[in-house]
Amino acid sequence: MKYDKCPKCGCDKYYTRMRVCGTSEHYQRFDGEYIDNSQLHDGIIYKDLWKYPRCANCDYKLKEEK
Ligand SMILES: [Zn+2]
Repeated sequence: MKYDKCPKCGCDKYYTRMRVCGTSEHYQRFDGEYIDNSQLHDGIIYKDLWKYPRCANCDYKLKEEK
């Protein structure tokens, strides 16, 4: 990422859109106690839908300059 902020509005956050697919197992305890589910994302595939990320505030397309 070449930008340190949005060149249009100055916002410090940006985002991309992803298609997420897959299957996973979510483990829980009968007594409701928290247990680690770090394997939850192992079977999930993330695919970028956008070529460029966008500003979180104004949707400006953050095209990398060549
Ligand atoms: Zn912006």
